[in-house]
Amino acid sequence: MKPICGSPALRLDDLAIATGRPHFSELLHIGRPNVGSEELLLERIRGMLRRRWFTNNGPLVLELEARLAHFLGVRHCILTSNATIALELAFRALELSGEVIVPSFTFVATVHALQWIGVKPVFCDIAPGSHNLDPEHAARLITPRTSAIVGVHLWGKACAHQRLAAIAAQHRLRLVYDASHAFACSTNGQLIGSLGDCEIFSFHATKFFNTFEGGAITTASTELAQKLRLLRNFGFAGIDQVVNLGINGKMSEICAAMGLTGLESLDEFIAANRRNYLIYRDRLAALPGLQLVRFDESERQNYQYVVIEIDEAATGLSRNDLLRILEAENVLARRYFYPGCHRMEPYRTLYPDAGRELPRTEALTERVLVLPTGLAVSSRDAELICEIIIAALRSPAECKHLLSR
Ligand SMILES: *Cc1c(COP(=O)(O)O)cnc(C)c1O
Repeated sequence: MKPICGSPALRLDDLAIATGRPHFSELLHIGRPNVGSEELLLERIRGMLRRRWFTNNGPLVLELEARLAHFLGVRHCILTSNATIALELAFRALELSGEVIVPSFTFVATVHALQWIGVKPVFCDIAPGSHNLDPEHAARLITPRTSAIVGVHLWGKACAHQRLAAIAAQHRLRLVYDASHAFACSTNGQLIGSLGDCEIFSFHATKFFNTFEGGAITTASTELAQKLRLLRNFGFAGIDQVVNLGINGKMSEICAAMGLTGLESLDEFIAANRRNYLIYRDRLAALPGLQLVRFDESERQNYQYVVIEIDEAATGLSRNDLLRILEAENVLARRYFYPGCHRMEPYRTLYPDAGRELPRTEALTERVLVLPTGLAVSSRDAELICEIIIAALRSPAECKHLLSR
C-alpha cells in the first residue's frame, strides 16, 4: 500500500479498475463484528458452563436486561433471540391489525415482521432532506383500518418523534420504533429507547453492539412488558400453565455473555467509529455531488453507519459505478437499502403500484452507499478509501470507460 499522508494523492492509474491490483489485500467488509474483552467473555462462558444454565431467563440474561434498562433509562428491557422476533412480539402484544404505516427505506425485516403476522404494510416515503419516515405523508396514509405507525431510526438518527407522537395520539394509533441502528444514540439528550409504545433493538453481529444474534424490546409500560415476557416464552405463565399463543423468542445465556462483555467496551467501539467517521467526513467534504450523512454533534451517536449519497448528474459517476470501483479495491461498500422493500417480494407482487407514493425513497435508493467502519477498519484504511473515492471522482469519464471494458 502507498503512504497517503503527505504523499502525492492517488491517481486514476493507481486504481484497481486500471491496474487489476486492489489496494486492500483482504476483503474489507462494512460492519465486521465488534468484540470486547475476550478474557472476560470466556470467563462468563465458563461460569455458564459450570452452572449448566444455558437459557430460560438465566442469570446473564437477567443481568443484561437490568443493565440495558439502566443504561437506556427505560423501565423495562425484554431480551429476545433477534430483532425480527422482537418486532413480531411487539406487534402481536400491541394487537396490531388491518394496516400499519411503515417506511420502505429500511431493512426488510421491519416490513416482514408485519406481513408475517398478517398485517398489511402501507409504505410511507421518507421526509425531504432526511432518510427517515415523513410524518406528513404518514398522516395522509391513515385510513379507518390503520392501527399503528412504525418508524425506523435509520443510521441511529431519531425519527421526527414529536410530530409522530402527535399524529398517533390524534388518530389513536400505536407507535412503535425499530431502533435497530440506534443503540447508544440520543435525541434531545435522551438515549433512544423510551419513545412510542415500545422500541426494538437489534444486537445482530453486524450491528454496533452485538450478542452474536439478539434483540430487545424496551418500554415504559409494565403491562406491555408482562405480555411480551409471556409471548416470548410460549405463553407460559407458570409450570404447565399456558395462557396465550406465544412463541420461542428467548435470548440464550451465551448471547447475553457477549452482550455484557460488549457493554463494557462501548466507549472503545464508539471511539473507533467516530474517528473513522471524522476522517470520511473531512476528507470527502469538498467533493461536489457527494454528500455524507452528518450526525448532530450535540447528540450521542454510535457512528456505526458512514453513509454517502452520490448525485450522478454532479459527479459524472453513479452510485453503482462507485460501488464497482470500490469492489475492485476489495472494499465491500453496501447499497443499503436497495432497492427498497416495496420492490422486494412479496411486496412488489402484492403492491405493484407502491412506488408511486415513494418518489423520494426511489431516488435515494439509487444514490446511497454505506462505507466500511468499526474496529476492523483502521484510520489508514478509512483514509485510503477516501483517496480512492477522490481519485475516481476526479476522472469520472475515464472510470466509466475502464468499467465498461
Ligand atoms: C438488522 C435490522 C433488523 C433485524 O435485526 P435481526 O436482529 O437481524 O433480526 C431489523 N430492522 C433494521 C432496521 C435492521 O437494521
